[in-house]
Amino acid sequence: METAVTTPEAELEKKEILNRYRGLLRSCRYKLDDADKKLIRKAFNIALEAHKNARRKSGEPYIYHPLAVARIVAEEIGLGAIAIACALLHDTVEDTDITLKDIEGMFGKKVASIIDGLTKISGVFDASSSLQAENFRKMLLTLAEDVRVIIIKLADRLHNMRTLDSMERTKQLKIASETLYLYAPLAHRLGLNSIKSEMEDLSLKYTEPVLFAEIAQKLKDTQAERTRYIHRFITPIREALHDQKFKFRIFGRPKSVYSIWNKIKNKGVPFEEVYDIFAIRILIDSTPDQEKSDCWRVYSLVTDYYYPNPDRLRDWISTPKANGYEALHTTVMGPNGQWVEVQIRSERMNEVAEKGYAAHWKYKQGGHGEEDPLEEWLRKIRASLENPDSNALDFINDFKLNLFADEIFVFTPKGEMKSLPVNSTALDFAFDIHSQVGAKCIGAKVNHKLVPLSHKLNSGDQVEILTSSKQAPKADWINYVVTAKAKSAIKALLKEERNKQAAEGKEILKRKMSHLKIDFTDTNINKITAFLKLQDAQELFYRAALERVTNKELKEYLESKDENTNTPLPVTSLEDLVSKARGKQDTLMIGDSMDNLEYKLSPCCNPIPGDDVFGFITIGEGIKIHRVNCPNAVAMMSNHAYRIVKAKWTSQKLISFLAGIKIIGIDKIGLVNRVTNIISKELNVNMRSLSFDTNDGTFEGTIVVFVHDTTHLTDLIKKLQKVDGVVKVTRLDTN
Ligand code: MN
Repeated sequence: METAVTTPEAELEKKEILNRYRGLLRSCRYKLDDADKKLIRKAFNIALEAHKNARRKSGEPYIYHPLAVARIVAEEIGLGAIAIACALLHDTVEDTDITLKDIEGMFGKKVASIIDGLTKISGVFDASSSLQAENFRKMLLTLAEDVRVIIIKLADRLHNMRTLDSMERTKQLKIASETLYLYAPLAHRLGLNSIKSEMEDLSLKYTEPVLFAEIAQKLKDTQAERTRYIHRFITPIREALHDQKFKFRIFGRPKSVYSIWNKIKNKGVPFEEVYDIFAIRILIDSTPDQEKSDCWRVYSLVTDYYYPNPDRLRDWISTPKANGYEALHTTVMGPNGQWVEVQIRSERMNEVAEKGYAAHWKYKQGGHGEEDPLEEWLRKIRASLENPDSNALDFINDFKLNLFADEIFVFTPKGEMKSLPVNSTALDFAFDIHSQVGAKCIGAKVNHKLVPLSHKLNSGDQVEILTSSKQAPKADWINYVVTAKAKSAIKALLKEERNKQAAEGKEILKRKMSHLKIDFTDTNINKITAFLKLQDAQELFYRAALERVTNKELKEYLESKDENTNTPLPVTSLEDLVSKARGKQDTLMIGDSMDNLEYKLSPCCNPIPGDDVFGFITIGEGIKIHRVNCPNAVAMMSNHAYRIVKAKWTSQKLISFLAGIKIIGIDKIGLVNRVTNIISKELNVNMRSLSFDTNDGTFEGTIVVFVHDTTHLTDLIKKLQKVDGVVKVTRLDTN
């Protein structure tokens, strides 16, 4: 039994604690029934007793903290009794003798599971980097079970930020940066915008105290001027709204210090030039079925007075943000040539905007058949967490990206809406539909125009994915996607694809080797691998599948081996062919002596060796050689049959002929480079000219190359057809 020492100070403190407790009850925005009140009372008593000997760094009784957290949960977020009770108890299991079992015994399973989640996620950030990520993942898993855990954690963090003054400087920095890095984006994701804003401002206050003070001071200094301006701006609108019998509130609101600081930093402009230091907010009292049209009526009224910037109209009424935010934003030209942002929303939308999902739930009547956006978000997180291949650190990086980015809304051909992070590409969209759709994606039609799979999507785009059963994922696809889902799917597919190809390549190589009478043994495989300077047999098989292990290389390998392997090389006798051809006197032989030509290759069809050709005796220009399928052939043969002479090519590898190639495809970075690389490096073909035209994401290219014959040209066309992004390659009749 301990002796209660009652001093006047202790008495005052006791009174203050009770005051704060009553304040908490009064602040509840959620209507409490008797059972709720009983639950909260019980939680308060347990927490008060458990923390009775503890004090905060500031010297205040510890219970002030859970009371304040509970008040944020009740008043600023608007949650009900269970959340309030859990907020009161949130530090008991971690900091006092009370166990989780005690909590479960006293409050039941629901409360115990929330407290358990809260206890587990505290101290998440104390460990090393990879542990942090792993813990963060756990934290989100907990969140997936009951979102109240994360909301109470945010309230806890907010109160700690509000009372950060009593901490040491190093702790202040650590807590403030964490808040900015993780908690504020999380609050934003949950639509807790005022909490997000306050967290950002408080973080800045501690991480950049000088800058923060400077901006805050400047905001203060310019306040009178701003108020006058706002008054001048608002007056005509206020009158018009009155005339139209709107019930409304209109006011000017300075933006947060953090958002101004961000603008100064990102745009490199001084404070004086940040034009949207404040926004005008018009809140209308409307009914759910009238609010949309009312907002648009207000919009049209505002633009009667001030000219809107059409590029800056944001309609989050027709398509709310994924975090639930609904409003109409426009930027108009105000007095003195100053752009002013005007935000129009109903009181209901405003509450959702300020208080987030809690308010959302309150207004949600249910039975709309639409998926709750929060559920949708949680579902996505769960899906990434459940992927066993995803590395925790990868995940946090990808996730952080997604957290910081705003999202875009795009539509399927059937009009189904999907939300994706900003900068998502057609390929992200494909993987969002299904990993198999992603794997077979060759491009897309965005708003009915052909685009490459790397095409970045914009809000409002309608996207139709084009697939081909022949498509296989490519390594550079990783660079074309931003969503975590697409990234991990591509990584998995590439691995699978490589193994599959290697298996095929093994068969190809087996055939090639047996053709050259090389035994398919491990020893030989290892020797060839070493000879070609490859990493391992798997790589050799993989290259074989890509037809990048040539007979020539295998022959060179044979030759490099000792003398007793004597596979003869097939010899093509040029002379044989030439003399055979010469035997037929009535046929014009082309190609043997290009220096003293008794004939010319006609520019209308540009024949090259290998083409079926004929000669045509012209008046004054000697014999011209045309392709049999020359566009003019029919006319020449039917009208001047007597002027036709038979013609044949001699086999001639030393002379090159000009041929034109037309390439049609999807415009993408690096494509021209790849095409020209194949031509000049891989095939060692010289180019005479090259021109590429791009139009709406597609390109058309014309390349004139020097080739030996049709085989050479066909080979080149085949290679170019395999380039990612190339849709069609054809030979041009004219160069
Ligand atoms: Mn706490």
